[in-house]
Amino acid sequence: MHYNPGMIEKRGTGVFPGVVIGKAAVFRHTVLDSVEHLLADDTEHELAVFEGVHAQALAEIRAIKPRSKEEREMLGVYESMLSDPDFLSLIRENIKERRYTASWAVEAATEKYTAALAALGDAYFAERIADIKDAETRLLSAIAGISTGIVITEPAVIVADYLTPSELMQMDRSKILGLLLDTGGQTSHVAILAHSDEIPAILGLGDVSETAEDGDTVALDAREGVAYVRPDEKTIRSFRARKGIAARTEKELRKEAAFPAVTVDGRRIHLMCNIEGLEGVDGAIAAGAEGVGLFRTEFLMMQGFHGAEEADPHVYEEAARIMGQYGPVTFRTYDLGGDKMAEGMDTEEENPILGWRAVRFCMANRDIFRSQLISILRASALSPSVRLMFPMISGSEELLEVLDFLNDVKEECRQKGIAFDENMKIGTMIETPSAAITADVLSSYVDFMSIGTNDLIQYTIAVDRGNERIAHLYRPLHPAVLRLLKYVVDAGKEKGVTVSICGEMAGYAEYTPLLVGLGFDELSMSAHSILEVRKRIRTLDSKSCADFADNVLSLRDATSIEHALKEYNGKA
Ligand code: PEP
Ligand code: MG
Repeated sequence: MHYNPGMIEKRGTGVFPGVVIGKAAVFRHTVLDSVEHLLADDTEHELAVFEGVHAQALAEIRAIKPRSKEEREMLGVYESMLSDPDFLSLIRENIKERRYTASWAVEAATEKYTAALAALGDAYFAERIADIKDAETRLLSAIAGISTGIVITEPAVIVADYLTPSELMQMDRSKILGLLLDTGGQTSHVAILAHSDEIPAILGLGDVSETAEDGDTVALDAREGVAYVRPDEKTIRSFRARKGIAARTEKELRKEAAFPAVTVDGRRIHLMCNIEGLEGVDGAIAAGAEGVGLFRTEFLMMQGFHGAEEADPHVYEEAARIMGQYGPVTFRTYDLGGDKMAEGMDTEEENPILGWRAVRFCMANRDIFRSQLISILRASALSPSVRLMFPMISGSEELLEVLDFLNDVKEECRQKGIAFDENMKIGTMIETPSAAITADVLSSYVDFMSIGTNDLIQYTIAVDRGNERIAHLYRPLHPAVLRLLKYVVDAGKEKGVTVSICGEMAGYAEYTPLLVGLGFDELSMSAHSILEVRKRIRTLDSKSCADFADNVLSLRDATSIEHALKEYNGKA
C-alpha cells in the first residue's frame, strides 16, 4: 500500500505549452518495495524463478549498447556481478539449503557481496556498490514481475525521474499526453524532442516522480509550468476551463498560419522550422514554415537509420522534395556526442559536452561523415533549396578542414557520376563563443551562419544546459550573450551573409522584439512556436524594436534586461 495524500502542486519549467488532464504512468529508474523475508514453500520453484530471471537479466544487459562512460562502467559491474560464480552459488545455496525465497536469496547475497566490498574501504569499490544495488534491483524487479523498460499501452501523462532522449524516442510517443520530469531544463534534448512532438511538458519538477503513483490523475498547464498530482474537483474544473481557453488560443494561432510574418512597418522576417526527422514535416507545413532552418540529422542516427554505404538517402531526398517548395532545407551534419549518443560510439570522456562531438567526432569517423555528405549532396540535386550546415565549429581552421573534406567528397561524387548541386549553400553554426567572436572571419568562408543559442548560452556562461540545479544561471538575456548575438549579426551583414538563429531562443515570442531589434531576419524554431512568433511579429514596429535593442545592450546585467523586456512586451 502506498501513502496516497491529497492534491500536490508542483512547479517547474514549461517546455511545450498545453493543458492536460490525464492518468499518470510513473517511471522511476530504480524503485522496489522491500523484500519480505519469507521462507520458500517450494524451493524447486524458487530456484527455477531465479534461473529464469538471471538468464534474462544477463541477456538484457549484454544487449544494451552503452551511451556514456558511466553507462559502460555500470553495465560492466552488472555483468560481472551477474556472471560471478561465487555470487551465483551463494544465491543457489540460499534457496536450496536455507530455503529462502528467490528475492530474499538475492537480497541476502547482495548484502554479503557489498559488505565485503565496503570492508575494503576503497573509494572505487564504494562507488561500485551503488551499481551493484542497481543490478540487484533489476533482478528483484524481474522476480516481482515489474518491468524495467518504459512501455506505455494506454494514453498517459509520463511522470518520471528523468528520461534520456533515446528512452523518449523508443516510446510510442503518440500515447504520451504530457510529460512531467523531476529533472531537465528548457534546452535539454528531451525538452527539444517534447517540443517537436508537441507534447506538453514540464521539466525540473524536483520530486514529482516520488509524489505520483501509476493511475493517479494529474493536471498540467505547461505554459504556466504548473502541475497538480491528484487534483481536487475544484482544480479539475479550473483545468477544464483552461483547456477550453488553450484550445481557443490554439485555433486563433492556427488562423495566423495564412499570414506572412511582416512587422507593422513592413519588415519581413522569415520563419523556418527545426525538425528531427520526416515526421516533423507535416507540422512544419501546417504552421506555414518557410523551409527548414535546422534538420537535426543526428536523431536519424540515434534511431539507427545509418546505412554503411550511404546514410538513409531516402530521408534527405524526401525532406528536400517536400520542404524545398517552402524555402531552404538546412541539413546540419551529425551533431553527435554530448547527450546525443548513437550506438557504438566510444565515449570514454571526462567532459563530453566539451569533448569529442559534432564535427570533431565526424572528422575522426570519416566513413560515417562521408556517407552523410554524399546523401546530402544527392538530395541537393533534387532541390536548389538544400543547404548544408556544420555544427560546433570552433574557429576558421576547423571550418576550413571540414570544407576541404566536403570538397573531397564532392570530387568523389563527380568521378562516380553522382549528381549534386554545385551551388549548394554551405553554412556554419555559431554555437561556441570562439566562433561568435570570430564570426567576421568565418563569414568569409560560408554562405550563411546560424546561431545555436542553446549551446552558445551554455558555453558563454559556463552553465550546463541540461542541469536543473544551475538552471537559474542559464540566462538567455545575459549581456554577454546579447553582445555576441549583436556582433555575429553585424558581422554577417557586413559580409552579406545571412545570419539566423535556430536555438530555442528563436521560438519564444517574448524574445521576438529583441531579436528583430538586433537585426535578425531569419529565425528557425519548432513548428508550434512559429504560430506564436508570427503573431508577435505582426504586432511589432521594427524601428521601435531596434531602439529597444540598442537600449538593452547598454544594460549591465541579465535581471535589468529581463525587466526591460517584460516592460516592453507589456506595452508594445
Ligand atoms: C543550439 O545549440 O542552439 C542548437 C540549435 O543545436 P542543439 O540544440 O541541437 O544542440
Ligand atoms: Mg547545439
